[in-house]
Amino acid sequence: MTETRARKCGTKVRHQSRGEASAHLRSLVEQGAASAWLNVYRCEHCDGGWHVGHRPGRRKR
Ligand SMILES: [Zn+2]
Repeated sequence: MTETRARKCGTKVRHQSRGEASAHLRSLVEQGAASAWLNVYRCEHCDGGWHVGHRPGRRKR
C-alpha cells in the first residue's frame, strides 16, 4: 500500500498519529538528537502518516 512512498519519506520514521509523532520529536529533542525547530507534519505520501522534520515545501500559503 505504501510501495509508492516518495523518495523523501523512504528513510523517515512514520507515525500513525500526530500525538505519536510529537512524542517522538520530544524525545529526540531531549536527547539532543534533534532541534526544537523541527515540526510534526502530516505526510501526503504515506497514507496519512506523520513525520518529524521540516515541513515539506518552502512556500507559504
Ligand atoms: Zn511520508
